[in-house]
Amino acid sequence: MSLFRPLVQQMAGYTPGEQPQESGWVKLNTNENAYPPSPRVLEAVQQTLEGRLNIYPDPLATEFRKVAAELFQVDPDWILPGNGSDEVLTILMRTFVDQGQLVSAPYPSYTLYETLAEIQGARFQKIQLNPDWSWPASAQQLAADSKILFVPNPNAPSGNRWSDADLLSLIPSQGVLVLDEAYGDFCDQPHQGELLKTDRGNQLVVTRTLSKSYSLAGIRFGFAVAHPDLISGMRKVKDSYNCNTLSLAAATAALKDQDWMQENTAKIRATRSYLIEQLRHLGFEAVDSQTNFVWCTHSDREHERRYQELKRRKILVRYMQFSLEEGTLDGLRITVGTDAEIQHVLDALQEIG
Ligand code: PMP
Repeated sequence: MSLFRPLVQQMAGYTPGEQPQESGWVKLNTNENAYPPSPRVLEAVQQTLEGRLNIYPDPLATEFRKVAAELFQVDPDWILPGNGSDEVLTILMRTFVDQGQLVSAPYPSYTLYETLAEIQGARFQKIQLNPDWSWPASAQQLAADSKILFVPNPNAPSGNRWSDADLLSLIPSQGVLVLDEAYGDFCDQPHQGELLKTDRGNQLVVTRTLSKSYSLAGIRFGFAVAHPDLISGMRKVKDSYNCNTLSLAAATAALKDQDWMQENTAKIRATRSYLIEQLRHLGFEAVDSQTNFVWCTHSDREHERRYQELKRRKILVRYMQFSLEEGTLDGLRITVGTDAEIQHVLDALQEIG
């Protein structure tokens, strides 16, 4: 006898990237930011620690929403924060999708969408991308009946970014297009919610995270930006105190220090160009990434061996495998770390061959 819901019994569950607990690793496997957060964040947390931790946090996240709203040039009722953007994705699923309804996402992309759909008892559809990561001709028709179409833009693990016209054409007829912009700040020309202000904006939700461009993966903070008609439903679904006092203070201070974030992402963009160029020099195919990671493959297909060899040298990258209609796609996804870390992984790849 199982005490689990049948859905839970059947599902495999999501496996997050490895987080070794001992030091000494060059950790380029989960797209964290190698640089520290703004010093303003540490000051804000310190100040908050000296304040009142015995009372609940502001359930409306008033101060954070004000700062995020300014950034996107919308009113604060367009903003909903979460305990990481993963929680925002969960809230979206619970707000818009009933059992048996259709949830879609491009494939390969972020695999958490499928797990969230499974938990909700939804039907999940993978829209297989072309080998060059563009949308197939059938995408619009396949997406049309979805309650939610999740699209990471730029995409993970490939790092490519789709055009606004592509994205607008994919909005489901009676559903929501969720643009998961976890890596949006790393684009050469970042978006700031422009699509939300088009006449299709009432079916769009943009999600953002502070884990990547703000160097705050350990804090767990993300948020949604969408028309208040959509946010109002999500607010009913979220836990009352889903963001804690310390993370609210950290996130608010981080968003206020845009100069720090811009400098940080500019450094990563420069290292990214170098990494892509050098990977190609070593014989890899590397996607022109708009994120803080690079997807690369080699014609000899020995990706798993290289992953293991790197791991033996205490360098952790992500080895990924995807089952496509025509066979398996695999490759390495390398987070853009510091210049020294990237030189280290490149030297190791040269040595490994
Ligand atoms: N979306 C995508 C595409 C991601 O790669 C990640 C990070 N794993 C997230 C969302 C979640 O980010 P977080 O929960 O740290 O905000």
